[in-house]
Amino acid sequence: MDFQTKLFIGGEFVDAADGGVIETLNPHDNSRLAGVAEARAADIDRAVAAASKAFPAWRNMAAADRGRLLLRLADAIESHADELARVESLDTGHPIRDALALDVPRTAATFRYFGGMADKLQGSVVPVEQGFLNYVLREPIGVVGQIVPWNFPIMFTSWKMGPALAAGNCVVLKPAELTPLSSLKVAELMREVGFPPGVVNIVPGYGAVAGQRLAEHPGVQKIAFTGSTATGRKIVEASAGNLKRVQLELGGKGANIIFDDADLPAAIGGSAFAVFHNQGQACIAGSRLLLHERIADKFLDGFLKLASSIRIGDPVDPATEMGPLTSMMHRDRVLSYCKIARDEGGEILLGGKAPAGAQFERGCYVMPTVVRARPADRVCQEEVFGPFVTVTTFKDENEVIEIANNTVYGLGGGLWTRDLSRAHRVARSMISGMVWINCYKRANPGSPFGGVRGSGYGRDMGFEAITDYTSAKSIWVNVDANLPPFYRR
Ligand code: NAD
Repeated sequence: MDFQTKLFIGGEFVDAADGGVIETLNPHDNSRLAGVAEARAADIDRAVAAASKAFPAWRNMAAADRGRLLLRLADAIESHADELARVESLDTGHPIRDALALDVPRTAATFRYFGGMADKLQGSVVPVEQGFLNYVLREPIGVVGQIVPWNFPIMFTSWKMGPALAAGNCVVLKPAELTPLSSLKVAELMREVGFPPGVVNIVPGYGAVAGQRLAEHPGVQKIAFTGSTATGRKIVEASAGNLKRVQLELGGKGANIIFDDADLPAAIGGSAFAVFHNQGQACIAGSRLLLHERIADKFLDGFLKLASSIRIGDPVDPATEMGPLTSMMHRDRVLSYCKIARDEGGEILLGGKAPAGAQFERGCYVMPTVVRARPADRVCQEEVFGPFVTVTTFKDENEVIEIANNTVYGLGGGLWTRDLSRAHRVARSMISGMVWINCYKRANPGSPFGGVRGSGYGRDMGFEAITDYTSAKSIWVNVDANLPPFYRR
């Protein structure tokens, strides 16, 4: 397969200034996929300079023309869907059926949504005192740095770049070192559809080097970050030098509550999707199952049967439902939580190890893992970020709200019930940026995505996202006013 392996700076694919290379591996068997140019500080500086140079013309381009480029990009992504899905699947381990059905279409849909929005983002006129006109422009911020993780790399190109570009900003995006390939393919398509040089720059590199430089760069006016809460803190510190705006989409520990009146078959299927899709490597994964004690056994019986039947295999096989985790280091980290669970008195009900079979030996595979644990246990408090779900029972609504809200996070959570009033009441009580009722992990380009507390601030997608990529400029005009007589002589 033909991979793009160079940095995308100023509209050209270029080598890294000091020739560094990142080896990117196929998590199915840890074979080498490609050596990708590794951006370091000098490359980040070049990318920021290219973006700064492109900014005046890009911000002044008719918004409809910026939008048209994003719409063309969405079309190009759709017409290259097979190729993009394959690259994503090889680099990340996402099952190809998910990459084709979710990752790539969602990427196109998000670019299309923001393409359509580019010329609908309007300022306003404020009804101020007589004699004055006051209007508010929504202006782009300038050069924005965007740093994304490895769990949904192609989708994050659109979540991050879509609103920023539509609003007239120029972008330097750093993909995760583990999964740079699909973003570079998107860069190829951006060049093909005619984005002006420098408007977008894509610079794979390591977090502590390239990411750090981008976060502290004086020429960058906003940093948008998706990743772990620990790195989020470093980003905030690095941003202080020039007081950048910061948007943080961080970790989560989603509570998924099953009440005793839930439609159990639907809740079982939805809860399996909530935690096992993408091998559980999702910030919004429903990784804490909270079961009403009256239905706990029945639910678990069905849930364990379903989890045991998930087809694990090579991600490029269309029959595969669960692929490998994205790296060996991460697999070991996920498995280490089995010992942590046992040490604290937890019980592994399913999985807790790699699947058996020669085809899994060299890959980063983990079986669907279900662990009975108590709310204060580490496995119920810390983000495991794998196909790893904890199970806890509860007696009543008050108790479950207390458990659900008792983590440092607040990203997404869900609940399953047939009681309409309870559904809305509990949704309001959950400390969380998103709540799903009788479904889980829904996302749409129009719906704000993000969290509260340790899950960060700011939103991807929707009007919130594009507004966050602008500053309000208030302009006052004296149209017919007798100014008050201060200092009039
Ligand atoms: P990570 O924080 O280790 O890395 C994320 C990105 O930050 C990578 O590109 C990395 O290179 C970069 N980075 C690392 N150290 C840096 C530094 N010092 N300065 C600047 N950049 C640095 O996270 P990860 O392990 O790649 O991703 C998993 C995490 O992402 C999980 O916690 C998950 O919940 C979170 N996540 C959140 C959302 C959301 O929308 N809230 C979505 C997906 C993933």
